[in-house]
Amino acid sequence: MTRTFTTQVLVIGGGINGAGIARDLALRGVRVVLVEKGELGGGTSWASSGMIHGGLRYLQKDPEVTLHSCVDSGNIQRIAPHLIFRIPFLMPVFRDGPIGPELVEIGLEMYDRFQPLKCGKPHTRLSREQALRLEPALSPQIECAFTLDEWGVDAARLCAANALDAADRGARVRTHTEVTSLLRDAGRVTGARVRDGITGEEWQVEAELVMNAAGPWLPKVARLAGLEVKLRPGKGVHLVFERRVSDLAIYATGIDGRDMFTFPHEQNSMAGTTDDDFYGDLDRMETTEDEVAYVLQAMERSIPSIRRHRVCHVTAGVRPTLFGFGKYEDELSRDYQVIDHGARDGVQGLFTIAGGKLAAYRLMAEDAADRLCATLGVKEPSRTAFTPLPGGEALLDVAALSRRFRIGWPAALRLFFRHGAHAPRVLEQTSSPPGAELATPSPRIVCACEPVTDAELIHAALREGVRTLTDCSLRVRLGVGACQGASCAGAAAGVLAEALGWSAEQAAYELTTFWAERWRVASPALAGAQIAALELHRAADVGARGFTRGDRAGHAGEDSPRRGVAWEAA
Ligand SMILES: Cc1cc2nc3c(=O)[nH]c(=O)nc-3n(C[C@H](O)[C@H](O)[C@H](O)COP(=O)(O)OP(=O)(O)OC[C@H]3O[C@@H](n4cnc5c(N)ncnc54)[C@H](O)[C@@H]3O)c2cc1C
Repeated sequence: MTRTFTTQVLVIGGGINGAGIARDLALRGVRVVLVEKGELGGGTSWASSGMIHGGLRYLQKDPEVTLHSCVDSGNIQRIAPHLIFRIPFLMPVFRDGPIGPELVEIGLEMYDRFQPLKCGKPHTRLSREQALRLEPALSPQIECAFTLDEWGVDAARLCAANALDAADRGARVRTHTEVTSLLRDAGRVTGARVRDGITGEEWQVEAELVMNAAGPWLPKVARLAGLEVKLRPGKGVHLVFERRVSDLAIYATGIDGRDMFTFPHEQNSMAGTTDDDFYGDLDRMETTEDEVAYVLQAMERSIPSIRRHRVCHVTAGVRPTLFGFGKYEDELSRDYQVIDHGARDGVQGLFTIAGGKLAAYRLMAEDAADRLCATLGVKEPSRTAFTPLPGGEALLDVAALSRRFRIGWPAALRLFFRHGAHAPRVLEQTSSPPGAELATPSPRIVCACEPVTDAELIHAALREGVRTLTDCSLRVRLGVGACQGASCAGAAAGVLAEALGWSAEQAAYELTTFWAERWRVASPALAGAQIAALELHRAADVGARGFTRGDRAGHAGEDSPRRGVAWEAA
């Protein structure tokens, strides 16, 4: 018999919007179920540039978007200071460029007025010599350069932090769980049928209201209720370099005149992004060689040596941009809409959130939750602007953390970045056998590129509801660095197998799936010997250890610990 859960609001989609809405509602005491068909943030949010910015680009045509994003960037910095990093930008002006320095500076002076909202610094103008001294990799063809100030965030971690906080406050959060159909009663949407992609189990979730926060998939979810919501989906690709190309973000112009940039992101640099109308299958998105060539060509003009840096993988996602006809992709509004399908289409019980920016997610979630609460008759106001996300409650002495747990500075710093004030409690998880217990556990580094410890993997599995090895690439950045998992995937699979009680077949399945994903995202950017090297590493893990492709089905049934702590916590 299909199990049934009842709740007040079912949120579909664990990207930044769905996770943000679930948290906002849970903080107001509303009962929520959040379902995500993959890993939290694994849709568009993870593929974003991760900028908590105002968007200089939108200033001219969409000043409201810039204003909202700047205001909310300030809020996000307050509630998640550990997840945010400053990104100083350099904008070179070329002698033969379409706009001279005076015009560029007028735009930057306008943007300066928004900077205090997001704790940003005003721009400065640098002479050619000053700019080249600051970043010798810049093209000598520049006339001068400007600085401006932005912020970055680990987008997948921001999604997880919102969802985990919602779970701590009573929400049921379930990953790898897809809405397959909507429940209808006399024309009203009353919930959904969901299917667990790992165990194959099916549930029914009965809800007073359903929020469609499925990002670019939202038209598909709306169709389950016989409704049409039009988007103008825009595919965006980034190249990820194995390490920092520069500690500054550097503007570049595409062959078609589009603004792009190379920017520091966590341990790596990224370059992008493209923005192209997308008509394909969202679940089978590939990056083409043309897209890689287009980005490299743009970057080369600002950083002539860019091709000497190794790209280790790519990211690709689709923007859930609001529909507009007759405009270039870049010119489309980045504004958002909350649609009440009762008011718009006469189908009560269903809402959709479309469009928007990661940088304004909290504000969008507050608006959406206000609309849901008004319908439910809930009077509690939103508290997300000032209630810290998990780990954001206080800053931490990283040196003391490093000493206490005997891990190096880099590991302590990265752990603090992901978990903030909760870092010590993460390190208290250890895989040492009980007989070998130490007064203070000493975690082992599993992934050296990031770095990630065994303690963090165990924490992710047992306290954060991570369900697969591949999920760890988003949750703790396992295997996304220079070696793409070559030196950590096997060891990480072992740690998770022990924590979650996987059989050898399950561990083998996880490992082969992990390698298939690394291959998918790395191969478009690799050439020659690099392809052979990745193949060799994969073979070493999957072939030489005698693993066959395991079988996931049936390994994680009713009583398996793999079902996810967040769901169980509620
Ligand atoms: C290349 C690129 C760069 C960007 N850069 C920035 C930036 O720097 N700053 C910024 O502010 N914004 C940026 N954006 C925009 C920003 O990323 C998006 O606006 C935002 O992430 C959208 O979040 P979302 O939650 O709506 O969608 P998603 O993150 O896609 O979340 C939707 C989720 O719904 C799930 N789902 C779908 N169907 C179902 C179903 N049937 N059942 C259960 N779950 C389902 C999906 O798996 C997915 O995880 C960028 C976007 C792109 C593509």
